[in-house]
Amino acid sequence: MMRLPPFRYLKPKSAREAAKMLADHARDEAMAVSGGTDLYPNMKRRQFEPKVLVGLRALEGGREVAMGEDKGLEIGGLATLQNLERSALLQAHFPALAKAAGLVSSPILRHMGTLGGNLCVDTRCTYYNQTYDWRKAIDFCMKKDGAICWVAPSSPRCWAVSSSDTAPVLIALDATVTLVGPLGERRIPVKDLYRPDGIDFVTKTREEILTAIHVAPLKGPNGMRATYLKLRRRDSIDFPILGVAVALQTAKDGTVTKARIVLTAVESAPVEAEKAEALLVGKKLTDDLIEEAAALAYRPAKPLDNTDLSYPYRKKMAKVYVARALRELRLG
Ligand SMILES: Cc1cc2nc3c(=O)[nH]c(=O)nc-3n(C[C@H](O)[C@H](O)[C@H](O)COP(=O)(O)OP(=O)(O)OC[C@H]3O[C@@H](n4cnc5c(N)ncnc54)[C@H](O)[C@@H]3O)c2cc1C
Ligand code: SF4
Repeated sequence: MMRLPPFRYLKPKSAREAAKMLADHARDEAMAVSGGTDLYPNMKRRQFEPKVLVGLRALEGGREVAMGEDKGLEIGGLATLQNLERSALLQAHFPALAKAAGLVSSPILRHMGTLGGNLCVDTRCTYYNQTYDWRKAIDFCMKKDGAICWVAPSSPRCWAVSSSDTAPVLIALDATVTLVGPLGERRIPVKDLYRPDGIDFVTKTREEILTAIHVAPLKGPNGMRATYLKLRRRDSIDFPILGVAVALQTAKDGTVTKARIVLTAVESAPVEAEKAEALLVGKKLTDDLIEEAAALAYRPAKPLDNTDLSYPYRKKMAKVYVARALRELRLG
């Protein structure tokens, strides 16, 4: 049986206090933990070895899902995926987000797992998501304890795969996040939270706590309809090996006025298919246009041989899933 290594657990009462506690420790010595559904298994495999965990579960607030006419949607970073999946408000106004939350792992993990944790979930790779002994047998890799990338041996960077189900949907909806640091807070687009590096995959500093997620009001000029489709071997529990989020804003006659197509699990960060988005704007969603946009959208997908199923198949499925998502929104 794999056991957790010993660690000290701190219980701050506010996000600012949590950020200060993290800042008081050296890098790798302390980490934040919310539901622990990603971090604890990773600690059991010694992928992370913090001596101190800053537990966010005792923070006051940060669990609500609220919507105001002018403010739009605001979700606390500690809201559980189960609450998002079951939220009547999300189901009515942001069904793609409720769906993405409901597609994460299993009911037990969604009961504990939070949206903040999901947005910061570790990147994944066949050569990394293994026990310590397995990784030791291949002499580790550069993501933890080693020097080489076994997927792309001549590569100077790690290509572990971005695996959050909610991130692509939130990027497609132009969402922003509030980050609280030891000295203050800032708000950035979810899109800017990520960088294409399997090791250093979030742009936030290690002390910053993600406290809230915001989406502009759906009604009015910025209103968008969205969907999320996920590919995986077992529908019951698996991480995405491809995720496609599409959001469209259309005029009354069906002309697309704004389009967002975001792919996940094809790179170390979510990937926006900008050429396909540009192609859709100003046009109606005909069958031909959908096929053309899907053919453009799958080009930036660069899956490697480091997750389940073959990478040529996953690349091909990116095209199929984008077309399916666009057809779904045309009908909706
Ligand atoms: C078997 C299995 C299957 C899974 N399947 C999926 C899946 O299909 N899709 C998917 O997206 N995920 C999946 N997961 C991963 C995980 O369950 C979810 O991503 C979950 O939402 C993580 O949230 P958490 O609160 O448990 O995060 P934690 O485990 O607590 O933390 C994860 C990371 O985020 C950081 N963190 C947590 N909260 C914050 C915060 N508020 N501010 C700043 N940093 C923070 C932690 O320091 C840590 O680095 C799976 C996990 C397992 C074990
Ligand atoms: S992509 Fe390479 S460096 Fe990154 S986890 Fe996989 S084998 Fe390791």
